[in-house]
Amino acid sequence: MTTLRRFSLTAYQAPLCETIVDCPEPQGSEVLVRVERCGACHSDLHIQDGYFALADGKTLDVRAGRSLPFTLGHEIAGVVERIGPEARVANLGSRVAVYPWIGCGACPACRAGEENLCSTNRHLGISADGGFASHVLVPHPRYLLDYAPLAPSFAAALMCSGLTAYSALKRLLPHAARGPALLIGLGGVGMMGLAIARALFPQSPLAVDIDVKKREAALAAGAAAVFDPTEVDARKAVLQATAGGVFAACDFVGSEQSLAFATGVLAKGGKVVVTGLLGGSFPQPAAMFVLKAMTVEGTLTGTLREAHELLALAKSGKIAPLPIHERPLTEVQAVLDDLRAGRVVGRSVLVASEQRL
Ligand SMILES: [Zn+2]
Ligand SMILES: [Zn+2]
Repeated sequence: MTTLRRFSLTAYQAPLCETIVDCPEPQGSEVLVRVERCGACHSDLHIQDGYFALADGKTLDVRAGRSLPFTLGHEIAGVVERIGPEARVANLGSRVAVYPWIGCGACPACRAGEENLCSTNRHLGISADGGFASHVLVPHPRYLLDYAPLAPSFAAALMCSGLTAYSALKRLLPHAARGPALLIGLGGVGMMGLAIARALFPQSPLAVDIDVKKREAALAAGAAAVFDPTEVDARKAVLQATAGGVFAACDFVGSEQSLAFATGVLAKGGKVVVTGLLGGSFPQPAAMFVLKAMTVEGTLTGTLREAHELLALAKSGKIAPLPIHERPLTEVQAVLDDLRAGRVVGRSVLVASEQRL
């Protein structure tokens, strides 16, 4: 029996711990994937905390439905190592990215193909054990996506940061036809968003970040212009650069300040899509929704279909690879600490290898 080595949450608000158990034998349609790469994401920090910050010191407790020790990590790429008796489609040895947003399969959201929105989900690394481990159990081979010829770390990162950005930007397609899109927050998801926006939209996007290093990275990655939102004239500068306002904005931060900035530079008929979860409230005079014919929409990762679309787009070479920092899985807690401290430009991806474990 192989062992399953994993870096688990054994208590909330505590560092991950290595725990070793027997490797599960895949049953029915299940597939056992040996993890090669797993990206680190802000959601991992929120789950490690056990809550999401809402506003005014209020929090959303996210500890329910997860027994400890629990393995985080949802940006997974690996190798099909063992398959259940009914998982005939999976080829042993094939290298795959794992779609982690797995639903119950029976609720209205799942039946509409939106397993990412399932409320009784089995999302890997969120409500079912994930990829900061030597192996991950996937319920069905339909969640495995062939990623060749992409690099495994890039393919892994596409499954959350890429998919989140892709799904959000798709919702802005008609608006981005009217002028350059505005991307707010150039962290891991935002940088992926920049690369995808350049592939999807007719014009290079504008980028906003409080961190000079992230603004420089955005310019180097093809942003048409960058803005520092803490500068007094930042909104005016965006309005000037867009001849009166932005039609398409994507808020990868999700805070009071970022949403105020996004809606503050919106043109009439403009739309903001929010993917970030930083916290804070969003005061807005109700009349502005009408007077600006404004849309503010939230999105949560993306569907399996969108994951296939995104991989196809990436395979066509249209998405410039973003800065990826590979670190050994044994350093997972240090990587999460760096992410929390805002020290990561691009995406950190953990490398699991038998030698390193
Ligand atoms: Zn994520
Ligand atoms: Zn469901």
